[in-house]
Amino acid sequence: MNSQFDILSAIYNDTKNQKYDYAVLPWGATEPHNYHLPYLTDCYLAHYISVDAVKEAYSQDNIRGMVLPPIPLGAQNPGQRELPFCLHTRYETQKAILTDIVSSLDCQGIQILIIVNGHGGNNFKNMIRDLAVDYPHFLIVVSDWFAIPPQKDFFEEKDDHAGEMETSVLMHYRPELVDLSLAGEGAYSPFKSESLQNGTGWTPRNWAKVSQDTGIGNPKKSSAQKGKLCAEDVSKKLAALFRDLVKGEIY
Ligand SMILES: [Zn+2]
Repeated sequence: MNSQFDILSAIYNDTKNQKYDYAVLPWGATEPHNYHLPYLTDCYLAHYISVDAVKEAYSQDNIRGMVLPPIPLGAQNPGQRELPFCLHTRYETQKAILTDIVSSLDCQGIQILIIVNGHGGNNFKNMIRDLAVDYPHFLIVVSDWFAIPPQKDFFEEKDDHAGEMETSVLMHYRPELVDLSLAGEGAYSPFKSESLQNGTGWTPRNWAKVSQDTGIGNPKKSSAQKGKLCAEDVSKKLAALFRDLVKGEIY
């Protein structure tokens, strides 16, 4: 791995003479993922996908991105916060973290930031709108990586949380962190209310009421090969996004 794209292995000697065109911020959560994936799954996946996408953008378009360390603080639902190690982070806390990162990058002359979000409970849109008021010259874009691939093209079972997609992609990047023999079935009880089910109204799902094993989606058919194909699709699409932003091809 080329360490200058990856803060987890970067050293100052690698970076001191580099100019960066943009920064990528992987943002995850600390939360249980069924019984077979680590608590930091959303951070690992967002991190490795970001590194691959930045490398792809460099090899395709010669643009240089900085991958920041993943943020392990996500917004959690009722029924999750009570579980060991699960860390709920308020909107205000997340916004303060994002604001300080934008301010630091601005000092370094970097004015394009892409948040690669790995956690479904996170929502950055209004923070980005607020920061566009405070930093009008600074472009912030968010991408939920898990929403990019057409899941049916790569997987047999639909993933919502710790199912076939997340498990397969982590098996591709970090197989030693996945133990499928421990996995529950990820069975899911939807809302009884038809109106909440069909999206007429929204409220956060109470995780203790909808899942037995904290998973939503069956991981049993996961494989590293499926994960590799999905990760490659996502990385290529993100690399194309990075190119458009850096080249100013937006409107
Ligand atoms: Zn996850």
